[in-house]
Amino acid sequence: MGRIRILSDLVANQIAAGEVVERPASVVKELLENSLDAGSTRIRIEVEGGGRKLIRIVDNGHGMMADDALLAFERHATSKLRTSDDLLSIATLGFRGEALPSIASVSRLTLETRAAEEEAGTVVEINGGHIQRVEAAGLPVGTTITIRDLFFNTPARRKFLRSEQTELSHIAALVTHYALANPSKHFELHSSTQALLTAPVTSSNGDRLFQIFGRDTSMHMLPTAAEIDFARAGLPEPPPWKREPDYESPAPGMLRLSGFVSKPDLQKLNRNSIYIFVNGRLIRDRLILHALTDAYRNIIPPTSYPVVLLFLEMPPEEVDVNVHPAKTEVRFRQSAFIHDFVRDSVRNTLMHARPAADFLQALNNNSPLASASLLVDVSPLPGDPSQPGFDPQLPPTSFGSEGVVSAEEIASFTLQPAAQPAIAERLDFSHPAIPVGYSDEAVLTPDGEAQTLNALATLRPLGQLRDSFILAVNDEGLWIVDQHVAHERVLFEKILRDREVERVQRQRLLMPVLIDLLPAQMITFARLAAELERNGFEAEPFGPKTIAIKAAPVGLEGRELERMLEEVLAVPDREQQTENAEARRHRIAASIACHAAIKINTPLEPTKIDWLLRELAKTEHPTSCPHGRPIALRYSMKDIQKAFQRI
Ligand code: ADP
Ligand code: MG
Repeated sequence: MGRIRILSDLVANQIAAGEVVERPASVVKELLENSLDAGSTRIRIEVEGGGRKLIRIVDNGHGMMADDALLAFERHATSKLRTSDDLLSIATLGFRGEALPSIASVSRLTLETRAAEEEAGTVVEINGGHIQRVEAAGLPVGTTITIRDLFFNTPARRKFLRSEQTELSHIAALVTHYALANPSKHFELHSSTQALLTAPVTSSNGDRLFQIFGRDTSMHMLPTAAEIDFARAGLPEPPPWKREPDYESPAPGMLRLSGFVSKPDLQKLNRNSIYIFVNGRLIRDRLILHALTDAYRNIIPPTSYPVVLLFLEMPPEEVDVNVHPAKTEVRFRQSAFIHDFVRDSVRNTLMHARPAADFLQALNNNSPLASASLLVDVSPLPGDPSQPGFDPQLPPTSFGSEGVVSAEEIASFTLQPAAQPAIAERLDFSHPAIPVGYSDEAVLTPDGEAQTLNALATLRPLGQLRDSFILAVNDEGLWIVDQHVAHERVLFEKILRDREVERVQRQRLLMPVLIDLLPAQMITFARLAAELERNGFEAEPFGPKTIAIKAAPVGLEGRELERMLEEVLAVPDREQQTENAEARRHRIAASIACHAAIKINTPLEPTKIDWLLRELAKTEHPTSCPHGRPIALRYSMKDIQKAFQRI
């Protein structure tokens, strides 16, 4: 007898489940897509135990006829595809006919469904791939699928699941994505304890965006819309921009882009807020991400990410969706064309968003650049050579009439003494200043730290450079201290100390600050709540997607308070999972310190400068901020004498 056997359906389904059903969120994705394909307008999802214990999805779509209800669990049973030619033009979200049998093979599944054409509905119960019960029942039109005990018979899979909260946040993110893509449908997501998302029907993508992201984010978003004929692919001239298309779906042969892109002042720390949909399907796509990065180049720093909600619509034959079992990746027939179109359209939207040159205006208004104020050329700022000039405290970048002001240009505007080239030349410090505490090779040394503490205690401040850097002298030479970074270090150490003895000073806010959170962020917030409380925050839920901050650590207020919370919540849940308690403590303390610290471009009273230098001299690590940026530069007496040719 030969060795090769045909696998039983059950084994084949479990193998397929390995590809399609990675985690509870993948189940939700498949079921949600089925509900959408069935033309549902109301979809309600219930989840327990992060989806392991229970996932239930109730829709009001067209339902299944009795015969189909069973057939749906056969491998490769689908109503969405007949011939392989159909594969070339798929208009539905599903098409592989794999999801239901795969899910049924690794869970206890109940299907309740009725098609409008039939009097009675059908109930099907399947346990680990084995049909237990099929019977007729009185049911409303539509489909309810309940999945219990996911992976109960595949322990290997079960082991890879993360905590309940992590799985739940994946589900929440996913439902959020689909809700964003389908404003005309009603979505609800409930966990056993809370309503995570309730999104009633809205009339436009913009309204849905507002509904889900809240007012603050929406205010920073620009609508974008453009379309182009695929026939233009490869033609040299720039595409004609046609904003606000005025008919429903793109004409045959057209590529349409619509959605929202964030203004430069809204920046995120990761890509989680970039949502790309191709023909209504949520995808992850490097090509489009790259096009977006290109569009934002020199507008936001390379380490930041925009918020983007992008819908691409194109004839189905232009995109191959059959390249990935979970259908999250696609292949475009004319990828370069699509890349450039996305880049140019988004860029175009950003360019027209602001009156020209207002950044330069803003810069001139608050630039008290006196001739003597810049004797030393310190550009670019040491410590962060990758993003010169992009201090969060600087006004946001904008666009000049000829295009975009580059990061380098901004750095040179802020830091170079254009008016006094002669002086700058004579003062040729040929050795770049080395951040204090560092050796000649710019390596931080313990000795350096100790010496710095001693030296700091003897500093006599002279004043501020550009309201941002403190100039001070002692016998060693001339010191330049970054006031923001210095204060950040002082605060960081103080917060950690106070927190240890539970003496963080908190202030009641006159008006609670309301912060809108995405469903996934709600879950992250719950994870961080205890640590935030120890740091002086008092928060409570205020409606399903909003928290009210009633108290905060002293010094942290207004916009900075919001930014700080946004920052700590932006860390992907994946990373939060692996983060230990100490790392979390430090991360939150660093974030509070950063947002409560004195800003640059802030004039300081001499007494305040004295105070800051004294406090800095008391810190344990006066040489760099919690993020690793240097705090002070020193020009040694020797360098100064050399420059004046006195030695
Ligand atoms: P696919 O979506 O790739 O066709 P599935 O295994 O996900 O494969 O579903 C199999 C079939 O079951 C679908 O083609 C559809 O006919 C039917 N079906 C699944 N879910 C629903 C639903 N919520 N409402 C109506 N029909 C459904
Ligand atoms: Mg499907």
